[in-house]
Amino acid sequence: MPLTEAKKEELLESLVEKCRNNLPQVNEEMIRKSFRLSYEAHKNDVRASGEPYFLHPYEVASIVVEEIPLDDISVSSALLHDIVEDTEISLGFIEKEFGKEVADIVNGVTKIGGVFKGHEISQAENYRKLLLSMIKDVRVILVKFADRLHNMRTLNFVPPDKQRRIAKETLEIYAPFANRFGLGRVKWELEDLSFKYLNKEAYIEIARKLNDKRKEREAYLKKFTKPIIEKLKEHGLKFELSSRPKHLYSIYRKMIQQNLTFDKIYDLLAIRIILEEDDPNQCYYVLGIINQLYTPIPDRFKDYISIPKKNNYQSIHNTVISPEGRRVEIQIRTRKMHEIGERGVAAHWKYKENISSSDNDLEEWVNWIRDVFENASKYEATKEILASFSLNLYQKEIFVFTPRGDLMRLPINSTPVDFAFEIHSNVGHHCIGAKVDGKIVPLDSKLTSGDQVEIITSKNQHPNKSWLQFVGTHKAKSAIRRYLNREEDKLIAAGKEFWEKKLKKYKMTFNSDELNRLVNKLKYENHSQFYKAIAQDEINVDKILTADVDEGKEEPKEIDFENFAEVARSDAGGVIVEGEHKGIPYSFAKCCNPIPGDPIIGYITIGEGIKIHKKICKNLINMIENNEERLVNVNWPKKRGSHFVAGISIRGEDKPGILNDLTNSITSFNNTNIKSVNISTNDSLFYGTIMVYVEDLTHLNRLIERLRKQPNVFSAVRFESSGVNR
Ligand code: MN
Repeated sequence: MPLTEAKKEELLESLVEKCRNNLPQVNEEMIRKSFRLSYEAHKNDVRASGEPYFLHPYEVASIVVEEIPLDDISVSSALLHDIVEDTEISLGFIEKEFGKEVADIVNGVTKIGGVFKGHEISQAENYRKLLLSMIKDVRVILVKFADRLHNMRTLNFVPPDKQRRIAKETLEIYAPFANRFGLGRVKWELEDLSFKYLNKEAYIEIARKLNDKRKEREAYLKKFTKPIIEKLKEHGLKFELSSRPKHLYSIYRKMIQQNLTFDKIYDLLAIRIILEEDDPNQCYYVLGIINQLYTPIPDRFKDYISIPKKNNYQSIHNTVISPEGRRVEIQIRTRKMHEIGERGVAAHWKYKENISSSDNDLEEWVNWIRDVFENASKYEATKEILASFSLNLYQKEIFVFTPRGDLMRLPINSTPVDFAFEIHSNVGHHCIGAKVDGKIVPLDSKLTSGDQVEIITSKNQHPNKSWLQFVGTHKAKSAIRRYLNREEDKLIAAGKEFWEKKLKKYKMTFNSDELNRLVNKLKYENHSQFYKAIAQDEINVDKILTADVDEGKEEPKEIDFENFAEVARSDAGGVIVEGEHKGIPYSFAKCCNPIPGDPIIGYITIGEGIKIHKKICKNLINMIENNEERLVNVNWPKKRGSHFVAGISIRGEDKPGILNDLTNSITSFNNTNIKSVNISTNDSLFYGTIMVYVEDLTHLNRLIERLRKQPNVFSAVRFESSGVNR
């Protein structure tokens, strides 16, 4: 049944009014807009109670603004918090209409709600950490608390088994969380409500007994507090004195823990004095006054003002004995301490002088809270905690579920393989695939908090070298390495055995020097790698052994250097002789055989024209000692742009596609053009010469470096004369 327009209007104005009263600043238009969207989106839905569903987000928003008033963004997010999950409206729409902050909070609230679905709460602490790891904005938690509080307040409308599950979750996850966040009031209400659904009999009995004794208790406390009130007034202090019964759940817990009957719980009598002025010294002053009126019990005294609790709680706890011999607990605190104790983050906010530094404050709180979780034992004083902004560890961890719903903690960036090894080494060794939230994912995909991970195994699957590149945990890494090493050892042994068998067959022996030479020649790092290659069929042992027998015959034949030099020189267009000797016939010296790219110089011979030498030719240097005047400047012409032909002598292991790999490697480098390729293969080896156009020797040398890095290339060198005078 939809709400009437008048009722809607009344609800909206009431919420806006509360915002005005409780928040430092309010974007009223945003609140009204959120209200209207939430109303429209939930218009056709009803709650278990039969009320319009809209009243739930509305009440959640009211709790936010009244119990934990932080800012208008939180109120707006509270109004919209169930929209994405329950209606047609998308997160993108919310972001467009209300901005990224609101959308992120709504998304966060939706996500952490989903984490609990279908999982048994068996490791409450891990659940709390899981939530923290998923939350980047503290307001997500605040809205979620408000949501949970309203659900708990209206829990009587849901079926009993659901009641128990939600109550348990609330008691184990949300209440301790609220406490850590300093939300004292939310915490006790969550606890009492959970208690009510988890142990109805005990709840009713304690409630009844408290009620039975209420009149007596109130009368007694009136008498007890009278002299205190008089004294405090005498000293001109502004204060509020309230007597309060303990919360039901804390009475119950004490009865269980200390095995006491209801009547023996002495601090059923408790009063609280809240001093209006923000001056901690007044608290000690009041403590002095009380201790003059009544006898204190020293070992029940706690000073949480000098040393606040980890959640920032500050107060003096003092227990005294009345003349009638009854114990009364007295809490003394300032108004500010009280607000922080009851409202945590929100109160802290309120007492910050500079409201505009909002983002930093929130950040500070989130960091503080996370730090407290992580280093609870390390810190005693709040100041220290606030001063140490240390990185929190939850951003370095993720929490994921097993198919059975158990929570597992892993480092960030963990993959299904890490998860598999974390479960059991057998699962890790045979994992072949994974499902995350029911969908198949690759083994190297990154897991995130809240994922439910299922590993698919196969007997035939084994750890793979490539896994090492993506696994994150030490456990997985070392297990994979151990496996690979074991496998490698087996391969090496098998390869060695095979090698020795072949030696026997050919009636050959290899001493260690000979073996070293062979291993080097074949470019293996060491004997083990050589044996491993044999076992993996990468080497044709028969070929190697017979090739070594018939050395020379098998030595690959290359194209003739003279032919190459001729081609290269004519392609370059010969050389240019400068100056007066232009026109004199020239030829190339056989001692150093210069080819295009080499720095050259001419030498005028008697009867044989000009001989072209390399500038570094030792022969030439000897000849010109006293005949320097016979030198002439010569140069390779600048043709074809400025490119000349050079040759690369190359050899390596023959693999399918090797020629393609080589030519790709060349042409993709500096747009190098290939003039010709002359490659032959001989079983497992290839050899030959590639002629390319290069700009200069640097270009050529870099190209050669590149080719040497190709996996199957044993050697690549510039093709040049093998003469000693090069
Ligand atoms: Mn909700």
